[in-house]
Amino acid sequence: MNILLLGATGSIGKSVLSVIEQNKSSLNLFGIALNKNTLESNKIIHSFSPAFVYIENKDAFEKQKKIDKTTFLNGDSELKDLINHEDVDVIVCAISGFAGLKATHLAASSGKRILLANKESIVSGGDLILPIAKENKSEIIPIDSEHNAIFQCLSGERTTDDVKKIIITASGGPFLNKKLSDLRDVTKKDALNHPNWKMGSKVSIDSATLVNKCLELIEAKYLFDLEEKYFELVVHPQSIVHSIVTYIDGSSICQLSMPDMRVPIAHALSNKSRLPIDFNSIDFSSLSLTFQEFPKDREKIQEIARIVCNKGGHLGTIFNAANEVAVESFLKEEISFEKIYEVIYRTFDDNEVSKDISIESINEVDAQTRNHAKKVVKSIA
Ligand code: MG
Repeated sequence: MNILLLGATGSIGKSVLSVIEQNKSSLNLFGIALNKNTLESNKIIHSFSPAFVYIENKDAFEKQKKIDKTTFLNGDSELKDLINHEDVDVIVCAISGFAGLKATHLAASSGKRILLANKESIVSGGDLILPIAKENKSEIIPIDSEHNAIFQCLSGERTTDDVKKIIITASGGPFLNKKLSDLRDVTKKDALNHPNWKMGSKVSIDSATLVNKCLELIEAKYLFDLEEKYFELVVHPQSIVHSIVTYIDGSSICQLSMPDMRVPIAHALSNKSRLPIDFNSIDFSSLSLTFQEFPKDREKIQEIARIVCNKGGHLGTIFNAANEVAVESFLKEEISFEKIYEVIYRTFDDNEVSKDISIESINEVDAQTRNHAKKVVKSIA
């Protein structure tokens, strides 16, 4: 199976490469796409010999040295051609943030199987991407761990009409059991220090604020085509139960694994039979699983996510852009941790209800929202 990995040099990209490495007889890295980390991509080329390497950043592309048997690409039309290349079987969308929308949008019209890790592209552009994918018969398989768990819990079922409730679990992040008012002085290092998962900086901060779970609620609403009222967010500190589906007959089905992104990736990359990987087994004899309610003082942010689910339009674009600016500003140490929420609250405007969604309108609303959010950052920094 020929894989095109978009976002090869990021955290998810590394996990995908590890699964491919362990299944070389059935999986082939056909091509990769990256922004500009050519130091890392040259290592990948050395180990996996992909036929095509797309480099988004023009400077990095121009500085790239020639390598035998590898074709280097740059520019939107070459990205489009690579995504639609007849030898590509599976496209992995592993770019972090809104930056991944362009590639996910192109992949949606390819008619190929898409393994989706880029939740921001669905939050920002769900009303655009999902219909395009459906029309072009591009199958989307989630590799966000919670969504992959839901996907596995639903497989074999005839219809989601039998679903009573879906519980999306949250680890609680590095500030589990801390009140928002206790988080005034936390540093960037504290916030990046996730107890269970090793991830990129954007999702680590989202996990610390719990905004990640709100983005995942919106992502789930689109991917499983169910109203937000079916989804409940629950804190599960051990990150072993990755989500739970409860059916109308009282059965609940969940998916368990140690926290390791290669598990959902291996599932999504499998065809009829599962792919073997080396993994840490759960020690069931000493296992203790606990669950607790989503923190009350973070309800307001969950409420915004539910408004986005119900109203759609460009509200997801606004929510996502406000959060991305807030997280970037926190990582640059321009604002304190708790002000991430303030930037989102002051930027989010649920009066924007245009239903006329296009890639152009999403890009425009995203740019406008970023400008607005940056002004908010300046005013409260
Ligand atoms: Mg997740």
